[in-house]
Amino acid sequence: MNDALATAVAVERAPRARVEQLQLERVRRVIALISERVPLYRERLGRAGVRAEDVRSLADLRGLPFTTKADFRDTYPFGMLAAPLEDVVRIHASSGTTGKPTVVAYTRRDLDVWTEVMARTLLAGGVGRADVVHNAYGYGLFTGGLGFHYGAERLGAAVVPISGGLTERQITALRDFGATVLCCTPSYSLHLAEEAGLTSKDLKLRVGFFGAEPWTEGMRQAIESRLHLMALNIYGLSEVIGPGVSVECPERRGMHVAEDHFLPEIVDPVTLQPTPPGLTGELVLTTLTKEALPLLRYRTRDLTALDPGPCACGRTFVRIGRIVGRSDDMLIIRGVNVYPSQIEHALTQIPDLEPHYLLVLRRERALDTIEVRVECRAETAAAGEAALGALATRAQRRILEVVGLTAEVAVVPPKTIERSVGKAKRILDLRAEGEGARNS
Ligand code: ADP
Ligand code: ZN
Repeated sequence: MNDALATAVAVERAPRARVEQLQLERVRRVIALISERVPLYRERLGRAGVRAEDVRSLADLRGLPFTTKADFRDTYPFGMLAAPLEDVVRIHASSGTTGKPTVVAYTRRDLDVWTEVMARTLLAGGVGRADVVHNAYGYGLFTGGLGFHYGAERLGAAVVPISGGLTERQITALRDFGATVLCCTPSYSLHLAEEAGLTSKDLKLRVGFFGAEPWTEGMRQAIESRLHLMALNIYGLSEVIGPGVSVECPERRGMHVAEDHFLPEIVDPVTLQPTPPGLTGELVLTTLTKEALPLLRYRTRDLTALDPGPCACGRTFVRIGRIVGRSDDMLIIRGVNVYPSQIEHALTQIPDLEPHYLLVLRRERALDTIEVRVECRAETAAAGEAALGALATRAQRRILEVVGLTAEVAVVPPKTIERSVGKAKRILDLRAEGEGARNS
């Protein structure tokens, strides 16, 4: 590890007072920068009468305006940039999971920061020069592929830039190149495990970095037992930088936020007031070092909780818990609020089921209904109709117990639900069709 990276890694263990002092200095710099360079912020901060020097403590941040996804849309494509295009060396875009993709840009220094936080992400799992990193996150506009790529190279590991898809070729590469590290979405890792079949025992995988979509502890157990590795949760988003915002340490009790570069807050998504530590709310992030796209209090719409307690690994950076989902992923089924990950949590508690599922939404007489389609194990499928029916009843009961929701459950044969190479598609929304059919 060279000096710059060693210093950055030491920061992760700095006393809280030092971390917070650094954050305060950087927040002030960000406010000065965006007030000068970004018309949207100049206007917004000017209206609120906010000047950088007025921010005397991190608590003062709470009174400052938020930034939202709509701000990106309103200023599409480059209106949020604080650097001239001459200084931009890379452009990416979000996946567009919930609408039009947002465009993001990086200066040379932003890429250095991104590379550093990604190297630190990989270091949290002990990755080093001797490792072969199989990087199946998508390369291209999506930030996952290139983010991991540069981080792994920075550590001197050997990167296999295989990107997503062509699963058979992935299995060959995993085996033949002796990959020790796997980077991809959790859902795709299960697909890889499934296709690798028995050979997964011969793989040398030691650790995996999984994120870009919600997943549960049940899913972690499935991945670890099938691929024989330690599965770490990683979180990030394009608007803020891409992957590299936070990562689990081997304690695996929440993801440490790279607090020297990103300042996290949790707010109540309705009142927008800070929630007490430990309570779930919307994650809000302020970038502390970005040049091209600095963001003040960006509302991620991702729901999680902060854990400021000490961690056995020695890092002093706060942790965020698993992302339950996005506020706009919430389903309301007969008055019950539910996130797809909660249904996954219930399903993965039943050993005869596979962690491959799809939620089908329909609208019947102005009421939303949900059908949970979930695959069973091959042995169960062979046991016949009655066994499948009993399994569906068990799953239905479990969902009711865990989520408080009565769902129709269809247990389907293995490999009948479409696999994805990137972010899994968990919802098939037929609500508009139902309406249309009735209206016509
Ligand atoms: P998009 O919002 O279009 O999907 P990105 O490709 O930038 O854009 O993906 C970032 C989003 O992916 C996050 O805002 C979050 O909703 C989701 N995400 C990323 N990592 C995780 C994770 N570990 N757990 C749950 N969700 C995640
Ligand atoms: Zn830790």
